Amino acid sequence: MATTEDIYQLYLQHPVISTDTRKIAPGSLFFALKGDKFDANTFAEKAIEAGAAYAIIDNPAYALGQKYILVADGLTALQELATHHRRQLHIPIIGLTGTNGKTTTKELINAVLSQRFNTLATEGNLNNHIGVPLTLLKITAEHEMAVIEMGANHQREIALLCSIAQPSHGLITNVGKAHLEGFGGVEGVKKGKGEMYDYLTPQPPEGDAFEKHNGVAFINSDDAVLMAMKDERGLSSVIYYGKNDHSDNIVSGKLLDSSPLLILEWKDNLEGGTYTVATHLTGAYNLDNILVAIAVGSTFGLSPEEINAGVAGYEPKNNRSQILHTANNTLICDFYNANPSSMFVAIENMDKMQSGHKVLILGDMFEMGDESAAEHAAVLQKAREANVNERIFIGKDFASVSPTADESLTADKPTFYLTAEDAMVGLKRNPITNATVLIKGSRGMALERLVALF
Ligand code: ATP
Ligand code: MG
Repeated sequence: MATTEDIYQLYLQHPVISTDTRKIAPGSLFFALKGDKFDANTFAEKAIEAGAAYAIIDNPAYALGQKYILVADGLTALQELATHHRRQLHIPIIGLTGTNGKTTTKELINAVLSQRFNTLATEGNLNNHIGVPLTLLKITAEHEMAVIEMGANHQREIALLCSIAQPSHGLITNVGKAHLEGFGGVEGVKKGKGEMYDYLTPQPPEGDAFEKHNGVAFINSDDAVLMAMKDERGLSSVIYYGKNDHSDNIVSGKLLDSSPLLILEWKDNLEGGTYTVATHLTGAYNLDNILVAIAVGSTFGLSPEEINAGVAGYEPKNNRSQILHTANNTLICDFYNANPSSMFVAIENMDKMQSGHKVLILGDMFEMGDESAAEHAAVLQKAREANVNERIFIGKDFASVSPTADESLTADKPTFYLTAEDAMVGLKRNPITNATVLIKGSRGMALERLVALF
């Protein structure tokens, strides 16, 4: 059976990893990982034929020669290789988790830090027990720092990802309502995300297998939940940022404009300067994401000009609050995902926006477990109270909490469609024009299908 050190020696010669036989890089190491519906050991031979240098397998039946390296478990071997590689790298690694805004924050931090440093950041949303090791294994001797997104939908996941990536710096964007099923309610989410702070404390919780770490935490001082989570633990190095003028904030900032793109003013509380930056982001909630990127930049010694160049240059291209000007409308494309917390802030953003005719198109939120009906009802209520002109709800979960026929006649007449297909038919019949339209729903709703109708 090959040891981690054996595989590390192969990796030094072949530092590209493949896990998918349809995309084998020549000379790469192929790791056979088990999926729900497949066992990649069966693809090992194909991987070698396609040009992989070695195939790491965990079933001896598929060992067809010297290019087949047997380990006890393919996934564990990949994770242990990444951990081993991380230990040889003497660079800062910024690990980030949280309910909402991880990818946006990761990209903003990367946009800022890359003004000065050769950085590597998680590609897209590769933030799980496979994506994090794969990301770490892309770090080379040329990289000066890395920004690693860590996602979780159950307890102990962030603990595992931290033990692999060993962040020297960490942050939780926020703790809200998402993956309630897997985490066991909001308290469960706090505990699960709190594993990031656990990792950064000098004295990890008793019985935890963490190496003593003592990292730096970036904390939003406006966020009472994060502040309380910090107080429960003995974090020794904390850097604060926020909207308030909290004297401990390294940077503080406020919005000057948000209709719909954000312009903000931020203060460098160490040096005392005040700076303005126009961004390509919309949604007041993105202010927090921008402020932490500024705080990280400032911590690593970037000048305000470099920081602003990074923030101003970042354009979201991933359907996360992305603005799209069509012939007839301005769309806020937020159909990448949705949960109650991000729905609330997105609705608040539309509520405050100063721009003519405003329309909310909201799709069902998935993975809500027992809380589903109550959370859909709360979002519905929030949407009905918002200062917007039209409200359209799509999906069976919203439909199941729709008001009775009587009430919907007397009230603001929201429109309900059971499916996105129904909504497409309805919107074709009653097109929306000259409006600012928020389109937001869970990934599975695939609301991007609506865009063609605007
Ligand atoms: P995932 O869990 O899918 O990886 P994520 O945490 O990476 O999501 P993003 O992809 O950055 O989050 O953003 C997804 C959506 O979350 C955005 O389009 C926006 O609606 C919302 N969002 C972003 N930042 C915040 C924030 N700071 N607070 C609340 N909601 C936010
Ligand atoms: Mg993400």
